[in-house]
Amino acid sequence: MIKNATIRGARHSIQRALVPRRYKHNVIGIDLGTTNSAVAVVGSDNEPHVLENDEGKRTTPSVVVLEDNNHKTLVGLPAKRQALLNPRNTFFATKRLIGRKFEDPEVQRDIRNVPYKIVPDKQGDAALQTSAGRNISPSEIGGLILEKMREIASSQLKEQITEAVVTVPAYFNDSQRQATKNSGKLVGLNVLRVINEPTAAALAYGCDKTRKEGVVAVFDFGGGTFDVSILDIEDGVFEVRATNGNTHLGGEDFDIVLLHHILASVKNQTNGVDLSQDHLAVQRLREAAEQAKIELSTADKAEIKIPFVRDNVHVDMTITRDEFDAMTMPLIEKVIDPVKRCVRDAELKMKDIDEVLLVGGMTRMPKIRQVVAELFGKEPSTAVNPDEAVALGAAIQGAILSGQVKNVVLLDVTPLSLGIETYGGIFSPLIPRNSAVPIKKEQIFSTAVDGQTGVEIRVYQGERMLVKDNKLIGHFKLANIPQGPKGTPQIAVEFEIDADGIISVSASDKTPYPSDSPHYGKPNSVSIQVTEVGLSDSEVEKMIEESERNKNLDEEMRRYYEHASRADILVKDTEIALIQFGEQMEEAERNEVKAETDKIKRMVEDIRSGAKLHDPKLLTQALNEMQQKCMNAIKKIAEKQQKGV
Ligand code: AMP
Repeated sequence: MIKNATIRGARHSIQRALVPRRYKHNVIGIDLGTTNSAVAVVGSDNEPHVLENDEGKRTTPSVVVLEDNNHKTLVGLPAKRQALLNPRNTFFATKRLIGRKFEDPEVQRDIRNVPYKIVPDKQGDAALQTSAGRNISPSEIGGLILEKMREIASSQLKEQITEAVVTVPAYFNDSQRQATKNSGKLVGLNVLRVINEPTAAALAYGCDKTRKEGVVAVFDFGGGTFDVSILDIEDGVFEVRATNGNTHLGGEDFDIVLLHHILASVKNQTNGVDLSQDHLAVQRLREAAEQAKIELSTADKAEIKIPFVRDNVHVDMTITRDEFDAMTMPLIEKVIDPVKRCVRDAELKMKDIDEVLLVGGMTRMPKIRQVVAELFGKEPSTAVNPDEAVALGAAIQGAILSGQVKNVVLLDVTPLSLGIETYGGIFSPLIPRNSAVPIKKEQIFSTAVDGQTGVEIRVYQGERMLVKDNKLIGHFKLANIPQGPKGTPQIAVEFEIDADGIISVSASDKTPYPSDSPHYGKPNSVSIQVTEVGLSDSEVEKMIEESERNKNLDEEMRRYYEHASRADILVKDTEIALIQFGEQMEEAERNEVKAETDKIKRMVEDIRSGAKLHDPKLLTQALNEMQQKCMNAIKKIAEKQQKGV
């Protein structure tokens, strides 16, 4: 139990300049995409450049084939080419699974749509399984892709690359960021910084030859994720004002919609042939669906022709752009709310935005461009290449860290509020969402009951007033607090979010003990890095939506909960008094006080369980009566004692 006391020394530090350090080698920037990845570096001309792979391509498919029989690993285009022959061992779009639990509804949905096997590992995280039964984590797949990107850079730059800046969707939570950093560690690549994809894109936009200024919205729609960020660019300072998005919405979902459409029409045309369980056929149809989607960005219709998809089943159909737009409209509409929320969180109006940047392959779809133009009320800019901007921005960040690029500062934000549970199930946020990172905040709390020797620190992420509506992301106990009256220990809880968006929490006993106390000068503190659980994008979305919908109700409930907590404490005090003085009270008086405490306990229970919300006035009245009766009885005892009765 922990009770909010005074806020002391709350620190809010934005480390402005990123300390320029000289690295011996180039620091590369890697856009680790769901569908494709790219690598870039800032050259001696101080401009970022994308590095081409062995096939002369500027992006590399984020696809990995694992062959157990001959221990062969293929990454990139050769892996993508093998997909049809080896669907069970060809892993693609695994970024959608990174840092997620197997039970996550998004993971469960992916299981139905991919030809490879997704299984739970020992910790219940989503893992991949080869046809020979070997488990591999999405982080390891990410590591293999990072390694490939490093190889591309090493071969192009003719030097051994060891350090990189890697991008992640802005809406990645703590465990997804940790998992991405681990991907680098697994292959010996030192990930100096994890930065948000839209922020990287803005860096690329703002740092080109004609340096730009103003308020920029980055609309980033890629293969697996959708992000929107709003930044202020001024004098080389890139300050993210707000960010929002959906880490499970991307081009893959559009492919799946079209795939299901093709499967349904094959069924229709062939008197019920169902190809959905045929891995090879599904893989071919999926590729054809993606190809048709891309064609529809420039043509009014696309033909899908696949002879002998199975035995004598052939696919021969045409899809028009209008049909495709109509069937994917529910997906496109999912971008509207996050954009509106982001603008609101940035405390701006749509008209305040000077420039809208499009990033990610899906922004080539004309319907998406149209929706963006309508939403922002202006045509989006084509100043950045949507496929390369993220990698270029990561390279710039790499060059900032190595000291090569100067006078550019990046201030990013955290997407969700972070806080702890305080007495009575109340969420006390320490760091509100959209706070600039890195950030450190400390707050002093105290105990809620007498003699409490430990406090359980429960860390939550979310926007609701009561912890039960937020997400528990970690917990730990600070023990060995010396027994004392409630409210005396001073427990400092410190939250830290580093520049990668990774969270650590610590608690320490800062009570000023007298020098003769056995606790004097003995440090007592506990720290954790929050790695245990991640939030799925739908949970994040849901949390913010619900918090807005329930704002008034939450305020109301907070009032009830605070009254209930106060009542709880007063009842406990009265019960202690009954233990101390009960024997000396008259039986009728004792029973009366007991009846009052029981009545209040029932009221508190009603409030906590949601069974009945007693009017706080009635509760206060009952508390006053209880205290009055108890005091009267104790006074009588004192009078009797004085008279020597
Ligand atoms: P990214 O993650 O930025 O590489 O985006 C990849 C996604 O963009 C994939 O789902 C691609 O199918 C999709 N994509 C790429 N080019 C186009 C295009 N011209 N029209 C529509 N979608 C595209």
